[in-house]
Amino acid sequence: MRSPSTVLVTGGAGFIGSHTCVELLDHGYELIVIDDHSNSAPSVLDRVRRIAGRFTGAVYELDVRDRNALSAVFDRHTIDAVIHFAARKAVGESMRMPAAYYDTNVGGTTALVHAMREHGVSRLVFSSSCSLYGDAAAMPLTERSPARPTNPYAASKWICERILADVCRLTPGLRVLSLRYFNPVGAHPSGLLGEDPHGRPANLMPCLAQVAIGRLDRVDVYGDDYDTADGTAVRDYLHVMDVAEAHRVALDHVGDGTGFRAYNLGTGEGSSVLQVIEAFRAASGRPVPYRVVGRRPGDVPALVADATAVARDWGWRPTRDLAAMCRDAWRFQQLNPYGYPPDDQNDHPRPARHPQGKE
Ligand code: NAD
Repeated sequence: MRSPSTVLVTGGAGFIGSHTCVELLDHGYELIVIDDHSNSAPSVLDRVRRIAGRFTGAVYELDVRDRNALSAVFDRHTIDAVIHFAARKAVGESMRMPAAYYDTNVGGTTALVHAMREHGVSRLVFSSSCSLYGDAAAMPLTERSPARPTNPYAASKWICERILADVCRLTPGLRVLSLRYFNPVGAHPSGLLGEDPHGRPANLMPCLAQVAIGRLDRVDVYGDDYDTADGTAVRDYLHVMDVAEAHRVALDHVGDGTGFRAYNLGTGEGSSVLQVIEAFRAASGRPVPYRVVGRRPGDVPALVADATAVARDWGWRPTRDLAAMCRDAWRFQQLNPYGYPPDDQNDHPRPARHPQGKE
């Protein structure tokens, strides 16, 4: 079956979305990007274009829950496949604003699937999360490990997966690959793209980078009394360039089977918070002071993937190690000490933008 050539990417200006856009442009895809920039700068897509040397397609600044605007995008373009990144993603924030998380994450997904069905688009790659496994008893986690979400963010991803599986069951020909990412970190090796959270970073790697550059005084380590080797939480970190590559490979395989299928996306290796701090120190050559504070509500001791299913079914596995993740994150931080400038000036023409679906 022919691989898709025009791909609709929701959340394409975000951290993982922007790296995936570069990867897809590098492999000849045409992109239709939708992003409301609630958690990204519009200028990110100019950088995507700079790196890829081209941008064929269109950019729409809209909320994926806006059904009329979404439908107009599907009317205007012949779309072969969709990658759905757009979502709210902070565990802690989801404990404070649960309804907003269900609204954006579940509402965005149902709006998108509705538009796909209406327009006969049958291939979707969905951004899921290892957080849906929650406080699991046994590591590593396989795709058959039970889902036990411990916070509204994780629950929203699990609900989306249930909805997608059910819609697939009732829609002949619809194929969905749900990728359960473990912990994507790092940056594009050019230093032009990376993770640029608004406000104080909720994730470890951008926090380390901001401490090393001097924007933050120290890293907070949330708990050192977990049942892990050094007492700090263990996660399976994965280079964002590997995540981007995995999406390109997923597009080649979304047509392989039928219905809904979920895959872990991880390296299969866990690193503790203290190990990551040490790796970042080594990569940056800078001191990275930290202090231990209480556990964060909703956090779990360890999440490590059994990553063999993707390797078996796609013949693909991640190749970049923790040192490369830290090195690339540090390069992005050095070149962009305050993240993406609000109005990124460069001498390259911008990708065509169609606000609210109008040319
Ligand atoms: P991000 O916040 O950097 O990117 C998400 C993008 O979606 C942003 O550009 C944001 O402006 C946009 N967006 C949000 N709500 C929208 C809406 N209603 N309409 C249109 N655009 C909207 O996040 P990311 O780290 O790139 O994550 C991408 C996806 O991967 C998310 O679904 C997230 O839940 C999932 N995920 C991320 C991680 C991680 O650690 N980064 C881990 C597991 C899963």
